[in-house]
Amino acid sequence: MSQSVPAPTPGSLSSRSTRGFARRALLGTAVTASAIVTTHGVPEASAQTAPVVIKALPIDRANVLAGSRFDFRVEVAGAQPDRIEITVNGQDADTFFKGANAVRTNEIAGKSGEVTYRNVTVANPGPVSVQVIATVAGRSYVDTFTWTVLRMGAGQARNVILFISDGMGFPTVTATRIVSRGITEGKYDGFLNMDRMEYRGTVTTSGYDALVTDSANSASAYATGHKSVVNGMGIYEDNTKDPTDDPRVENIIELAKRTRRMATGLVSTADITDATPAAFAAHTRRRSEQAFVASTYLEDGHRPDVLMGGGSRWFLPKAQQGASSDDRDLVAEFRAAGYAVAATRTELRATPASATKLLGLFHTGNMSVWYDREETKNPNVLGKFTDQPNLPEMTGRAIDALATNPNGFFLMVEAGSVDKQLHPMDWVRAVYDNIEFDNAIGVARRFQEKNPDTLIIVTADHSHAMSITGTYTPYEGKLGPDAVGTYAESVFPTFTRKRGDGFPDSPVTKTTLAVGWANHPEHFDDGTTVWAEPLGPSIEDPQVKGTYIGDPKRAPSGKGVLMPRTVPASVNSEVHTADDVPVMASGPGSEFFNGLVDNTDLFWGIVASLGIDPLSPNGRSPMGKITGGRFGDPANPASRPHFAKP
Ligand SMILES: [Zn+2]
Repeated sequence: MSQSVPAPTPGSLSSRSTRGFARRALLGTAVTASAIVTTHGVPEASAQTAPVVIKALPIDRANVLAGSRFDFRVEVAGAQPDRIEITVNGQDADTFFKGANAVRTNEIAGKSGEVTYRNVTVANPGPVSVQVIATVAGRSYVDTFTWTVLRMGAGQARNVILFISDGMGFPTVTATRIVSRGITEGKYDGFLNMDRMEYRGTVTTSGYDALVTDSANSASAYATGHKSVVNGMGIYEDNTKDPTDDPRVENIIELAKRTRRMATGLVSTADITDATPAAFAAHTRRRSEQAFVASTYLEDGHRPDVLMGGGSRWFLPKAQQGASSDDRDLVAEFRAAGYAVAATRTELRATPASATKLLGLFHTGNMSVWYDREETKNPNVLGKFTDQPNLPEMTGRAIDALATNPNGFFLMVEAGSVDKQLHPMDWVRAVYDNIEFDNAIGVARRFQEKNPDTLIIVTADHSHAMSITGTYTPYEGKLGPDAVGTYAESVFPTFTRKRGDGFPDSPVTKTTLAVGWANHPEHFDDGTTVWAEPLGPSIEDPQVKGTYIGDPKRAPSGKGVLMPRTVPASVNSEVHTADDVPVMASGPGSEFFNGLVDNTDLFWGIVASLGIDPLSPNGRSPMGKITGGRFGDPANPASRPHFAKP
C-alpha cells in the first residue's frame, strides 16, 4: 500500500516512499548515495543490508482518535545517531507537539538513539506525516510514516456492553448452537442469543508483529484502536527491557472516564488481571505482570467501577497467600475507596443493591469452568471454591451497578475459559462455558429491551484449531477415529434438553460431535470427550526435559490412537490460529460491526457509537450522525479510511 501523502523533502535529501522489492533493491545498492532511504516493515534479512533502521511509534498506517492521548517515540537502530530530526506535517516535532518534552536517549550503547514525547495529542483530523532524519557519521537516513487522525460524529449509544468469548472461532459458535439448541433434519431447533443480533461481521486478528495473535494484543486492538504485539497491551513495543515504559495509547476505559465520566466495568471468568480484561485499562509490554495490572486498576483514570472475576492472589499480600505488587492489600484499599467487596456468590448476592462500586474476586486464580462449577461440582476440582457465581449473575450485577451512572457505561464481559479449555482440546468444557457466555448475553439483551440506547457487541479475540468433522457414535467396539461419522454417517447428535436453561442434560450421549484439531501436541485419542477433571493432552517427557509427549490418561479405554504432534515438541497444548473470528452486534451503532473489519475497527465502532470526542468539553461530538457504517468526520473524507481501502 503506498502512502497517500508525500513527505515534505527537506534540503538536498531525497525522500521516497518506495516499498517492497524496489526499496529493498535500493537498500542494497544505494551506499554510494549521500542520502539513503531506509524503511519500516522490511523483512529482517533485508534490514541487515540497511545500516540504519528507523522506527516510529505509533506505526505507519495507525489511526489516531483526535484528542486522544498517546506517547510518540522514534527509535533509530543499527548505529548511534549524531542527530535525529523529526518533522510532523512539515513542522518541527517540538513545535507540532507544543508543550511536550522530547526525551532523547541512547538505550543500546553505541547502537541506537531514541526520542520520546509522552502524552501528546493531535487535534486536526486527516493524514499526519511523520518524517525522521537520522544523521550517522555525516550521512543522513530518512523515513516517513503516515497516521490518520479521526474525529467522530455524534453517537447514538449511551451504553456499550462488549462480550468477548476468548478463543471463540466460528466452529465454537456452531458447536455451541448444536449442543445448546439442537438440530433436526438440517434445521436448527433454536438459535443462540448471539445468533439473534442484527449485524454479523468477520474480524481479522493479527497484531503488528506476527500473524497469530494472543489475547493481549488482540484485546489491546479492541480497547485502543492500535495494533500491538504478542503479550503487549495498550502499548507499542519499544527497545527497552522495562515492560511498563513502552509508548502508551489511550484505552476505551480511560477515554470513557476522562472525556465523559462514564461508569466502566470488567467481568471475566479468568483472573480479572488476565490479558483480555487488563488490556481495557492497563498498559504493559508483558501480560504476565498481573500484580502490576491489579495495582493499575486502583489508580485514578484507570479504575473501573466494577471488577469481577478470579485472580484474588494479585490483590492480596503474602500474609494472605497473595502475590500483590509491593505486598499491598489491594482488597482493603479498594474497600477504603468505597467498593463493596465479595469473595463468594453468597457475598455477591449480599452486596447492597445501592453499591455502585464492586470488587468481586471469587478464586485465587481462574474461576472454575461451568461443567465443574455447576454440573458435577467435583470437590477434587473445586477445592475450597464451592461458592462461585456464574457469568450471567456477574453480568447482571455489573449492569445493575453501572446503569446508575447518568453518563452511561462501558462494560466488557469475558468468557475467559473457552480459550483455556480449547488449549487442552476439551471442547465439551469449552462449549459449556460458551453456553454460559451466551446466557450472559441473554441477560444483557433483556436489559437492552428496556434500555434501547444500549449497544451490545459479541466477539472473540482469536480462534482455535477446533473443527467439527462430523459426529461420533461408538458402537460395536469401535472407538476413536473408527467411530467418527463423516458425510452421510454424520447423523445428528442426540443431546437432550429437559432443563430449559440452554445446557444439555448430559454431555454424554449416544451420538455426540466428532471434533478434530488442526494443530496439536502428541496425544492419545480414543474418542473420549468428557473427562472427570480438566486434563491436558500431554505430559513432560521424562527423558527430555521441556518437551511433551502424549498422556495415556487422555484415553481411559487404553485403546487410544497416538496422534503425532503438529507443533514443536516444546508446545504442550493446542495453539491459537490466524483464522478470522465472528462479531455480532445489536443496538445503536451495530451497523459498524458488519462486513470484514480489522480488529482495531472494533474500537472505532465503539467510539463512533458513543460519539466520544476528547476535543469537546463534554466529550460528545458536536458533529452530525455518521451513517453507512463508516467512522470519522463526515466533512472530511480523509478521515474515513475504513472499509474503503482495498
Ligand atoms: Zn489462548
